[in-house]
Amino acid sequence: MNRPRLIVIDDEPDIAGFICDVAEQIGFVTEQFNYAGLFKDHYNGYADVIVLDLMMPGVDGVEVIRFLSEIGCNARLILISGFDPGVLHSAQQLAAEQGLNVAGSLSKPFRYDALYQLLSGLSITPKSLARPVSTEPPSAGELREALDHDELMVYYQPKVGLNGDCLVAVEALVRWKHPNRGLLGPDLFIPTAEQYDLIDDLTWVVLEQVMTQCRCWHDQGLTIQVAVNMSAHTLKELELPEKMGTLVQRYNLEPSQIILEVTETTLMQELAKSLDILTRLRMKGFHLSIDDFGTGYSSLVQLYRVPFSEIKIDRSFVMEMVNDPEAATIVETIILLGHKLNMRIVAEGVETASCRERLARLACDQAQGYLFARPMPGDEVFAWFSQHSNPERG
Ligand code: C2E
Ligand code: MG
Ligand code: MG
Repeated sequence: MNRPRLIVIDDEPDIAGFICDVAEQIGFVTEQFNYAGLFKDHYNGYADVIVLDLMMPGVDGVEVIRFLSEIGCNARLILISGFDPGVLHSAQQLAAEQGLNVAGSLSKPFRYDALYQLLSGLSITPKSLARPVSTEPPSAGELREALDHDELMVYYQPKVGLNGDCLVAVEALVRWKHPNRGLLGPDLFIPTAEQYDLIDDLTWVVLEQVMTQCRCWHDQGLTIQVAVNMSAHTLKELELPEKMGTLVQRYNLEPSQIILEVTETTLMQELAKSLDILTRLRMKGFHLSIDDFGTGYSSLVQLYRVPFSEIKIDRSFVMEMVNDPEAATIVETIILLGHKLNMRIVAEGVETASCRERLARLACDQAQGYLFARPMPGDEVFAWFSQHSNPERG
């Protein structure tokens, strides 16, 4: 009863039928629409995955994307098209910008294997039933209480060096241990924190936990860098460099152990002020990393003006690079550019061995992704490290 639900919208019944067959083999309940207009009239909001053909007579795929965005659809979206890959990319980007959850794309004609791999890799828990509770953003009051009652906890995801897969750093990723709703991911509550001025408090809660953990690892003999995500708001506080300096001192740590991750879009707002703060942080010895690189705005200006020591290539390019020559070219170019600017390059979202090998061949420095490990509580990192560093290295 609790199977995930997939809808195909494609004017070619053969293709729609084929997709449904493959999806059913994987365990989906399926439904197909050969007219997009019909889908729009009948869609009741209950889909975990929507497979959408871009090119259809009458209402086309781009109009469906707009419709899905307007109704706040949160199903995973897979786009298919017989156009050249450039059109698929643009549509994918358009859908993502409109807040849709794009899980991938396929160029027609596609093979059984490619479709099977994409659908079976979605790791869907049937959200059509669970969704109403789990995706509702919390109120500001609830989040305030969570901050006061220590309900936020930091998970850590390993970043490994690509020559030997050794642990070199971790990224701190906040979670909310909600008393009724279980473990909530940051995408659900960071926007609330930003909107209601709670983000600075949240950042300091995260930073204190990170320092405590880092000190603990240090005492166990594990010295690794820890990356922390910084919001735009926090980066506008002129005293931030001094406050950060005092913080690491209090835990007897070095600023060079801390990497501050900043997104490109963050920097665009009030660049001059952020530049002042970021430059002073760098002068104190903190590392600066530009996160989700390639998805924001004015990337090149920022690379030139901000003293970054690291670039993190956005996972949308990394995840596509094995199947998509254009994504691979972008990744390769970012690596070349970053190295010329003396920066370290980290690839995010590495899920397969073939992707890791490709990145290693391109001389990418580090990688992070489910292939190596998912984010885990701080006290599991040491065991993970011991397991993954000892074997062949003696
Ligand atoms: P991010 O900084 O780009 O973090 C990477 C996200 O990618 C994490 O999601 C991580 O779990 C996920 N990820 C890692 N490897 C893979 C992979 O192989 N495949 C896929 N599909 N995903 C992977 P998470 O933890 O849900 O965090 C989402 C975003 O929330 C972060 O993106 C970051 O922007 C924000 N965030 C997390 N913690 C904090 C925080 O303490 N403060 C602030 N301001 N933002 C935070
Ligand atoms: Mg990050
Ligand atoms: Mg990122």
